[in-house]
Amino acid sequence: MEMPTTEETLARLAEIPNLTVSMDTPLARYTRFGIGGPADLYAETETVEAFIAALAVARDTGVATVVIGGGTNLIVSDTGFRGLVLRYRADRLLTANGRVVAQSGAVLQDLVDFAIAQGLRGLETLAGIPGSVGAAVYGNAGAYGHSIAERVVRVQFYDGAEVRVFGNAECEFRYRESAFKRHKEWIVFSTQLQLEPADAGELRRIADDILKVRNAKFPVTMKCAGSIFKNLLRDDLAADVAEAVPDNVVREGKIPAAWFLEQVGAKGLVRGDIHVADYHANLIYNGGSGTAADLCAVIGDLKARVRERFGLELEEEVQYVG
Ligand SMILES: Cc1cc2nc3c(=O)[nH]c(=O)nc-3n(C[C@H](O)[C@H](O)[C@H](O)COP(=O)(O)OP(=O)(O)OC[C@H]3O[C@@H](n4cnc5c(N)ncnc54)[C@H](O)[C@@H]3O)c2cc1C
Repeated sequence: MEMPTTEETLARLAEIPNLTVSMDTPLARYTRFGIGGPADLYAETETVEAFIAALAVARDTGVATVVIGGGTNLIVSDTGFRGLVLRYRADRLLTANGRVVAQSGAVLQDLVDFAIAQGLRGLETLAGIPGSVGAAVYGNAGAYGHSIAERVVRVQFYDGAEVRVFGNAECEFRYRESAFKRHKEWIVFSTQLQLEPADAGELRRIADDILKVRNAKFPVTMKCAGSIFKNLLRDDLAADVAEAVPDNVVREGKIPAAWFLEQVGAKGLVRGDIHVADYHANLIYNGGSGTAADLCAVIGDLKARVRERFGLELEEEVQYVG
């Protein structure tokens, strides 16, 4: 049997109710880096049914799929993605009895603001983390010593065959890790979070203070992905490496990847229009005309330097597409 063409797959996707589909869609516009070639096919929807139907068409026609959220943690290759890029846009936020249910397409900051407005404590330290709720669960997003996992009660997801619900333990959350990250074909549709009553004004002040600090570090227009590399758990490091790190660098058992990167001269490094911030060694940004090739080359260079000097393998927090 001949493989269906992209046009044929497009025609089948176009028949799915509530699905918006396009062809040859530049992905740069869907990534905060502003980098990335075209997807053969791009589709988004606000319904679980349409999302699952689109996956079924892709499976039938042998087309590869990838799911994206807000694109704030993605490096998309310059040649784009040969297949179907899917985005789940449902963004409702509901609350009852101290619990909040958030659909995955909701913006994380909207969830934080919603919880604060309801006088519910537990998400305020996530203020300013860009992106969607679905990806925050996928990557167990966090900051200031807390992560979303602490509040997750249930996650509704699709495992490629059926819609299922996991409790917190089944999600296997770790630092920037979850079961969903290890099963790339799983799609998070919604999340239920347990929060506690608190004074809304006090929560707002905490969030606003964090936003002020974050906006100074990551200007809102900066084309970047936040931290490129994960921080390191001190307990995971070889004894001689751990000993080389000054005590005052360690925070909650973690050593910032930035410390290792600084030791190998990362700050201010430039390749093409890709820059390592001169004030933060784990922050790489696109000056405007940067490419994924240069970005990946800088990441590879930094990993090699740290490997050579410390015998240590830095691991990307960013996710690759294409
Ligand atoms: C300026 C800046 C600061 C940042 N600071 C922080 C920080 O302090 N802490 C932190 O944790 N992160 C931080 N990040 C990283 C980023 O905000 C998080 O990784 C965020 O969760 C990504 O959300 P997104 O919707 O943009 O996901 P995307 O970048 O679109 O996707 C990220 C990954 O999630 C997967 N995904 C997306 N939606 C779903 C879904 N519904 N189901 C299953 N998988 C899905 C994608 O396949 C992809 O692998 C920062 C990023 C920026 C740009």
